[in-house]
Amino acid sequence: MKRDQVIFDLIAKEENRQKTGIELIASENFTSKQVMEAAGSVLTNKYAEGLPNKRYYGGCEVVDEIEQLAIDRAKELFGANWANVQPHSGAQANAAVFLACLNAGDPILGFDLSHGGHLTHGSPVNFSGKLYQPHFYGVEEETGLIDYDKVEAKALEVKPKLLICGASAYSRDWDYERLRDIADQVGAILLADISHPSGLIAKGLLNDPLEYCHVVTTTTHKTLRGPRGGLILMREDFDNPFGLKTPKGELRKMSSLLDSGVFPGTQGGPLEHIIAAKAVAFQEALSDEYMEYVLQVKKNASVMAEEFVSLGYKLISGGTDNHLMLIDLRNKDITGKLAEETLGKVDITINKNMVPFDTRSPFVTSGMRVGTAAVTTRGLNEVDMKKIVGFIDKALSNHDNESTLAEIKKEVNDWMVQFPLY
Ligand code: PLP
Repeated sequence: MKRDQVIFDLIAKEENRQKTGIELIASENFTSKQVMEAAGSVLTNKYAEGLPNKRYYGGCEVVDEIEQLAIDRAKELFGANWANVQPHSGAQANAAVFLACLNAGDPILGFDLSHGGHLTHGSPVNFSGKLYQPHFYGVEEETGLIDYDKVEAKALEVKPKLLICGASAYSRDWDYERLRDIADQVGAILLADISHPSGLIAKGLLNDPLEYCHVVTTTTHKTLRGPRGGLILMREDFDNPFGLKTPKGELRKMSSLLDSGVFPGTQGGPLEHIIAAKAVAFQEALSDEYMEYVLQVKKNASVMAEEFVSLGYKLISGGTDNHLMLIDLRNKDITGKLAEETLGKVDITINKNMVPFDTRSPFVTSGMRVGTAAVTTRGLNEVDMKKIVGFIDKALSNHDNESTLAEIKKEVNDWMVQFPLY
């Protein structure tokens, strides 16, 4: 077969983009070579519907071993007693949990997308908002923080069957103990979607959701630094509280419902090449080296936040406890869209983001979200964070000055090649 040079040239171009730019998208990271090697392996050829040692296909002896290792390492990493490593993505992991815990039309309560939540937590454009009855809590306008008394009041009002915490753009830690108390008052299952901070949680740098939440989901590619994918975890298995039955009418444990929620509920064959890459990433995350990495991610984010504040930027909630920050650009007289475009011109990648109580559309927005997971993998430290904020401030203040932007881009490119990637 002729080599598809068109695609491989484009991959080389993307590799160069990643190498020469500053990556600040909070949900991105750079995996290790061995993670990519596993993801690009012959395992992509294998069908393996079912679970290790309970498959619907022959020839699964090797992938059974691989998937079992991935499960065992995930459990060790998070102190979980049960894990499903098959979800193709974070959205798929959440879909499987919803299917396992709810009937169509059931009320759910999640963190508002426009305040930092995720689409899969009840947005009307997503399955979660279309198939279930979504309700939301948000942050306070003055503080940018979640007021748990208000979450409780909302839960008592709407009586959700599933209470969801976790976010895509919330820079503060969560009070899982309080949320469990709220969930118990209304008989809800408590789901924590820790897609963003899961790497920091795994190493004990943030509160532990597994201690209080019935079910935990995460992506594997953000702070966790694995391949693109999803993961579902529980510390303890439990009887489903709503008497949910299988199609055959059997009452089942939550672990069994969750497994079925993934396959056959929302997916077909698992991606064993990605599961192998997850296993590699979990092993890496169990190391002391990864502990140093997440400590640096957190330090970098905190220094970056302080630097933005010192230059007059308004951070939602005033700072960060994790790897990301949400910046309200309204006092800087620039939209999120223009900020993203301007920084793109100097090879700094961020994403525009709605801020709480935003009056602009999601295509324009008044804010930007910035994270330190990727630049920390690259080897950048606190001093470098100040330099990055300097570049950002200079670019945004000169967004209509193409020659200044070209100078900044050159500086960025010359600087980043000093931090080799792959
Ligand atoms: N949940 C949260 C909190 C997220 O931030 C994301 C991704 O941004 C997802 C779920 C979805 O993950 P994926 O893009 O892998 O479907």
